Parts: sequence; C-alpha cells; structure tokens
Amino acid sequence: MCGIVGYIGTQNSTPLLIEGLMRLEYRGYDSAGVAVMTAGKGSGQGSGKGSGRGSGQGSDKVSEPAEITTVRRVGRVRDLAAAVPKRLNGTAGIGHTRWATHGPATEPNAHPHASADGRISVVHNGIIDNATVLRARLEQDGVPLASDTDTEVIAHLIGRSSADTLEAAVLEALTKIEGTYAIAVLDTAHPDRIVVARNGSPLILGVGAKEMFIASDVSALVRHTTSVIHLHDGELASVTATGYRTFTRDSDDTGRVPVEIDVEAGDLELAGYAHYMAKEIHEQPDAAAAVMRGRIDERFGTARLDGLNLGPRELRAFRRVKILGCGSAYYVGQMGAAMIEELARIPADAEPASEFRYRNPIIEPDTLYVVVSQSGETADTAFAVAEVKRKGGTVLGVVNVVGSTIAREVDGGIYLHAGPEVAVASTKALTTMAIAFALLALLLGRVRDLSVADGQRIIAGLRRIPEQIREILAGEAALADVAKSLAEAQSCFFIGRVRGYPVAREGAQKLKEVSYIHAEAYQTSELKHGPLALISPEMPTIALIPDDELTDRNLAAAEQVLARRGPLVVITNPGVDVAGLGAQGGVEHVVPTVVVPKNEPELDPILLTIPLQVIAYHAALNRGLDIDKPRNLAKSVTVE
Ligand code: GLU
Repeated sequence: MCGIVGYIGTQNSTPLLIEGLMRLEYRGYDSAGVAVMTAGKGSGQGSGKGSGRGSGQGSDKVSEPAEITTVRRVGRVRDLAAAVPKRLNGTAGIGHTRWATHGPATEPNAHPHASADGRISVVHNGIIDNATVLRARLEQDGVPLASDTDTEVIAHLIGRSSADTLEAAVLEALTKIEGTYAIAVLDTAHPDRIVVARNGSPLILGVGAKEMFIASDVSALVRHTTSVIHLHDGELASVTATGYRTFTRDSDDTGRVPVEIDVEAGDLELAGYAHYMAKEIHEQPDAAAAVMRGRIDERFGTARLDGLNLGPRELRAFRRVKILGCGSAYYVGQMGAAMIEELARIPADAEPASEFRYRNPIIEPDTLYVVVSQSGETADTAFAVAEVKRKGGTVLGVVNVVGSTIAREVDGGIYLHAGPEVAVASTKALTTMAIAFALLALLLGRVRDLSVADGQRIIAGLRRIPEQIREILAGEAALADVAKSLAEAQSCFFIGRVRGYPVAREGAQKLKEVSYIHAEAYQTSELKHGPLALISPEMPTIALIPDDELTDRNLAAAEQVLARRGPLVVITNPGVDVAGLGAQGGVEHVVPTVVVPKNEPELDPILLTIPLQVIAYHAALNRGLDIDKPRNLAKSVTVE
C-alpha cells in the first residue's frame, strides 16, 4: 500500500527520501513524489506544475524565504529519481508512493499535494470520507483544485487556517476531516519542522543523531536508525532535526519514548536471489524453526504461548474459535480452524475479516477470536479487531510485525518471528502462521482432552517441518518443470478435500497473484457437482492427494479428470499409488507427480502448501512477470 517517508536533519533530504521510497516499493503503488524544502533563491529547481512557491512571509523564524520544490511521476520510484533535478538540495522533505483510491494514477493526482499558495505540502495514506463535501465547499470558496484526490483538501484546509503555528493549523484541519489517514506536512512558513498525524494508517518516527526520519514502516529507515516510535491512532507529532513532540488532538503531550527494533538492514536485501519471493520461500526452514522456538513443552506434550495472556482455565472456557484474516491469511485461518477442531475438538471456523466487520457480527463471550495479519496493519482486519473489542469479545493476534497496530490492539497473541517479508505474495509469513495455529490448536487441545501422547506426536511432527521443507525445496527443478507445463494455461483448477481444501485455495490464490493465470479452488468432492463441465485438454487440474483416510476418494476424483482428458498434476505423499492413474480408461497420460514428505495428518497441509508456492513462482518467472510486485496488488493493505 502507499508509503510515506520524511526526513529532517543536517543532510540533503532528497537522496534519503528516494531511498526510503525505494524501500517501500514492495508495498505496492502506482505513482510517487517528493517535496523538498529549499532555502529559497538559487536552490529550488522548479519542475513543472507540481512546483509550489512559498513566500515564507509571516514567519519570523526564517531569515531567507523557504520554498518547496515538488517532483512527481507516475510509475516506478526510479523514474521519479531520474526526474529529480541533481541540484535539488534541502534538509527537510517528504515523499510518497501512492495507491490510488480517489482519481486515477496521474501526475496531478500523485502526492505531495500543495495548498493553493504553495505554502503547504502534504502526503497522505488513507481515505478522507467527507472529501466530496469538502472539495465542493473549497470550490465554492474559489479555491482551484488541482487534482481528483481526497488528499488535496487537507493541504488547502491547513493552508487556509489562520493559526499561528503549523501544529495548530494541522489540528484545526483535522477537526474538519473524517476518515483514515497518516499525513506528513511541510510548511514554508515553518521550515524547521514536519508535522505528522495518524488515524488508522501506520506511521512511525525514527530518531537519529541530529536528524529524524518519518516512515510508514521500518524498512524505510532501518538503515539509518533502529530507534523508533510507533505513533498511535489519534496522535500527532511535531518533528524537528533535533527532536520531536508527540501530542493528542486536544494538544496534550503524550511523551512517547523510542523503542529499539531488532530488524537488521541485511534482512531487507535480496542476498543473491533474483526475487524476494524466491528468497522468502527459501527462508522457510529457518522461519519455521523460529516460530516454534521456546514455545514447545516436550514433557507435557503442549505449547507454551505466554503471549496469549490466557491461563488454562480461561482457555478451557472457550466453546468456539473464530479466525479472521484477509486473502491468504484467511486461507491459513481455515487451515488453523481445521487443526483446532481436530486437536481441541471445539467448533472453529474462519471468515474474511473484510466481510465480518460489515455484517454486524454477534460477538459471544465464550468465543475466542483470532485475527491473522502479516503486517499487523491490514485495515480490514484492524477494524474487525475494533468490532470484537467494542462488543466485549476476547481477541488474539497472529502477527509478524512487532509493535504494529493489530499487535497493539489485541488482548494477546503469537508473534511469527518470520523476519521482514517483502514480496507482495506471502510465503514464509503464511507458513509460520500455519505453524502458529498448530501450536494454538495443540495448547487448546491439551487443556481439554488431547492426550499427552497425542500432544507429543504433534510436537514430533512440528519438529520435522523445517527439514521437510528443505527437502521439498531441494526438488525445485522438478517443480519448475511442472510450472512450465502450466505457463500456457488460460485457467486451471486446484482441488483438495477437507484439510486439503484450504491448501487448494491458497495454491490457486498464489498462482493468480503472481502469474495472472486464472485459477479456481474446489473441494474435490464438489468437482462432479458442476465444475467438471469445464474439464478439457485446455484446463489443467492440480490435485492434492495426501496419504490419509481420503486418499482413495481423491484418487477416484483424479480419474474423473483424466477420463475427460483434463491434464492433471498430483501433489501427494510417498506410498500413494498414483502410477495406475488413467490406466483404467486406457488414457495414455503421464501424470506429473510431486511427492511431499509425510508428516502427521493434521500438519500435512503446512507442507503441501510449499510446492504450490514454488510452482506459482516459476510460472510467473516463465511468463517474465514482476514477481515481487504483482500488478494492482499491495503488500500491506492499509486502506479499505
Ligand atoms: N486517498 C489518497 C489518494 O487517492 C491516498 C491513497 C494512498 O493511501 O496512497 O490519493
């Protein structure tokens, strides 16, 4: 999703803003821009329409009138970088990558947006709900609007304020706008500061030596500082080169102090891989080990999850579990629900958080709500948390990013410790989410009727996972061949039964996301109730046939596909007899088969997902696509 960066200090801000925006590219965007405060005559390199000229009058702090120079471009940050004049030099600036919600991706709609007099410059992430009314009002007052965006009104409202300080002008503007935002504001009349505010979209400050950074997430500033402040909703900050002040909308100081984050700059490099998706797929053995570390109690055959903040008695009192997530996190939630039902024998299901929040859900005190989000900033999921809490429910978070909004709002949870995930298509975060659910299911089971022996059986299975993932990844070349066979397809099916169904859904999702091949997931048993009509030599089917109590049923369905001359790919376990497939009908067909190491039946879905990620990656590679940044998608969806 959109990214905000800001810098104020002693260095030239321009290269720092561009670098920060490049670090945020993975979040997904359609256009980008920077605004740099320059010291006035001689230094401002005007660049077309976006250039704002401030007089600086009205400030007694400035000896030389300041100006703001704005450069914006549709497309990549490198296009923006190429357009930025070499001599653009100023020690304060803001930058933005936009993910359009109001108005198409054009240069006039790109941020930063300026007030009519060019004095104010604003970048914004989020949506101003009452923008239409505010735009109409501004137009009535004769203010020329330069874009189609909701954001522009913020710049005008601040610019038209008669308040003495920028802080007061921003506060006044915020009383008029409704919606979600993270904003950063420059003012030529107060060139020594950047004022920022947050409500529903992430924003953090980075504290350096005589310099301060502003960003939507830590990846943009971790090269410069690891000392950060995560602003809270409803909080503002006035940031200067030498310090900052955080305060509420009522101007009360919040006195926030920085925390140290443990992300290293190297975690965000490609480390020799062609794409982040490939790197993150290969990081999964380590990530799987990390999410389990310190959380397994071998002796009692259970999991130790202190972060839940719930004791055995409280855990026993829940009669139902509801998991909420969006996209792949929802499919992992379905896997988690199946594990919880199997191991703890309590009803569990998953639902898209994006739907849940809108349907006036009934929140029951004896239901445990669990939300899942890699970034911890997914807007739809954060709203679902608020809905559960408003109605008095208990909600846990399964989250990767420490200190993120959702992580802070929930009653307790499980951090994934997967390390930063940069590729839009999630891989290692999903695998660690699934393992986190296995740990939760184990604990919920052990405080109920699951035996120690069964608990220990699951633990032994969990311990095998990192090595088994390594084994699957060692077979990457064969998976690349399977991907090649799919690369020409217009459309394909993924089928799985019961535990395998969420795996099929996630497999279809991943293929769609990165290769743009249309893919649908069905329960294997549903094939004959409709979709079988579509089976033809042009429609490949990827069938999940694990070695479990349903193997025969799954093999029978695979026969039905082959009998209709549908190309088939089988994902299975050792010992499943797929050699005979197609023989009955005399169909001459070599079925590409991927053999995944066997684990405990409850945990098999975690491993079955891995080859589907690799296949999706190679399908996209064959098609020469932008794998880490699929079109129209964003990494952390911080708008509705
Ligand atoms: N709503 C704003 C726009 O369309 C900001 C979108 C974003 O978060 O990038 O320009």
